Amino acid sequence: MGSEMSAEKGTRNRPPKSIAKDLDACLQCGYCRDVCPVFEQDPWESASPRGKVYMLKQLDRRGFMDRILSVFDREIKVTDDFVERVYWCTSCGMCEEECHVEIPFPELWEEVKAWLVEQGVAPLDAHRAFLKRVENVKNPFNEPESTRGDWSKEFLLSSKPEVMYYVGCTESFRMQRIAKTTATVLKAANVKFNVMGEEEWCCTSPLLRTGQKGLTESFARHTQEQMRRSGANVMLTACAGCMATTKRDHTKAIGPLGYEVLHVAQYAEKLIEDGRLSFNRTIPRKVTYHDPCHLGRHAGVFEPPRNVIESIPGIELVEMPRNRRKSRCCGAGAGFKAQFDEYAVNIAAGRVQDAIDVGSEQIITTCPFCAVNLNAGAKQLGVRQPTIDLMQLILEALGPSV
Ligand code: SF4
Ligand code: SF4
Repeated sequence: MGSEMSAEKGTRNRPPKSIAKDLDACLQCGYCRDVCPVFEQDPWESASPRGKVYMLKQLDRRGFMDRILSVFDREIKVTDDFVERVYWCTSCGMCEEECHVEIPFPELWEEVKAWLVEQGVAPLDAHRAFLKRVENVKNPFNEPESTRGDWSKEFLLSSKPEVMYYVGCTESFRMQRIAKTTATVLKAANVKFNVMGEEEWCCTSPLLRTGQKGLTESFARHTQEQMRRSGANVMLTACAGCMATTKRDHTKAIGPLGYEVLHVAQYAEKLIEDGRLSFNRTIPRKVTYHDPCHLGRHAGVFEPPRNVIESIPGIELVEMPRNRRKSRCCGAGAGFKAQFDEYAVNIAAGRVQDAIDVGSEQIITTCPFCAVNLNAGAKQLGVRQPTIDLMQLILEALGPSV
């Protein structure tokens, strides 16, 4: 067990009441097991969604006998292993997709993680540092806030923007190339845009997915205030995680936002339809599209990225057998890669193999985390199957004049 905090003595509180109905609904049928990417890596019942639900049910039903058994330290309780099992999850949502009684799993796992955090037995080591950093410098990488917008200095930013580009921590501090590419594509389509720079705060996805809910409301209000000041009524993001969090979770935390949140794939589709973006270069290449869980299953955005890819001359888009709602997770989500990198890369290698099997030469995706992990998976397999962001493909198709 990797956590400094120990659950050895076991918390005796019950799981949150809000999930009791869902726990009762489980039929123990097991449909969720075979689609779970982490169960595939460690096929023990305790690692499966069904096994975790069973354990939670037992914790929920503790009664008189458990009080007697506790004298001998034999009662059902939360152990370090159970805590680790709960975090043994990428929040991909495939269990919800397959569950016949429609248990809303990603939310349920987040509730359980938040409960474990409240009990003082979670999160895991890799996740604990996120909170302090996000609190102090508004990003989980511990980078100075003042440098967040440095990448954007070469771009002409509008004081009366049509859209605000919410860049996200990964693209601001670790993958500025995608931020610059996105800005270049917007510029090519003559879109007036601006960024929040130092005033852009983390969307809090790394915290929410690991059960650390405390900062989301105030951070959502801050983002809402920046949007109000900008005058724009559309906020764009190029990260699937930022998109799901700033749209769904921020709305849940503070109510209606007063602006639309779009992924740049959706916006690019609109720019093409409106004739503001067109492609000069033919790219004779067979590619496949990997649906990030947070943009696909979680936000329901499946067709816009595909429509953009198919509008590029010469491109042949082939589908992997598991696509759209049934897409296979890349293994990076919900802090899983941060804590269990080796397993996350194994999962990614499986997804890269899916792409190779359909004859793809390149994987296109719309999330920086998926891109990093899928490229690590290809490296592990020792194959040439690069994953690039959709914005990089668009830039290539725009031709050398851009
Ligand atoms: S969300 Fe995905 S990784 Fe987590 S338990 Fe469900 S299927 Fe497994
Ligand atoms: S698919 Fe749903 S009902 Fe069946 S075991 Fe999994 S959680 Fe329970």
